[in-house]
Amino acid sequence: MKPASRLIYILSKNSGKIKEINAILSSYSISVRSLFQDFSFEEVAETGSSYAENALLKAHHGFKISENICIGEDSGLEVDALDGAPGLFSARFGGETLDSKEKNKQILELLKKVPQDQRSACFVCVVALVWEKSEKIFEGRCPGLISQESRGSSGFGYDPIFILPPYQKTFAELGENIKNRLSHRAIAFRKLAEFLLSNM
Ligand code: IMP
Repeated sequence: MKPASRLIYILSKNSGKIKEINAILSSYSISVRSLFQDFSFEEVAETGSSYAENALLKAHHGFKISENICIGEDSGLEVDALDGAPGLFSARFGGETLDSKEKNKQILELLKKVPQDQRSACFVCVVALVWEKSEKIFEGRCPGLISQESRGSSGFGYDPIFILPPYQKTFAELGENIKNRLSHRAIAFRKLAEFLLSNM
């Protein structure tokens, strides 16, 4: 019989992220559940000046509400030719009302004249864990390239324009199995899982 998995709250409404995190953590018998499913509260404003600050804001808020160990996650895409934008503002790039397709279009437009060898970018994911005694941060980075056009239909957000160099395919073309082994999120959450299993 499969052992019961350990359930941890996450302060996030992004179902794409939560699905990925659960796939990444499944081999550790850990699963995450959105705090919004069990509690009603106002969203936390992401006012931090770094991914870590935002992740900690969310995790501390979640811990206060649930009185249980909680994680907060902040992530983004940094494009070198755009001086690191959209970065911390990845979710709001171009305005709150743009959907992912429009955000991707905007990045491709801004990079229209940038040749392929100067289209380097990096996905970053920072996870904060907060429990009664302390807090801890885990980070994952995944370098790649911005494609010339949107490709593929898997995943979410900027996946259709982010090429993973060893495969020369976007995350959206590669699909969840490969993404969940190699992504920024996979790296950060594996560190979290190792920490949880050996310390808590
Ligand atoms: P936040 O962490 O909720 O502030 O949102 C980060 C934003 O970065 C998401 O809404 C996506 O637009 C983008 N992002 C973060 N990770 C990924 C990913 O794995 N694939 C595609 N887009 C991502």
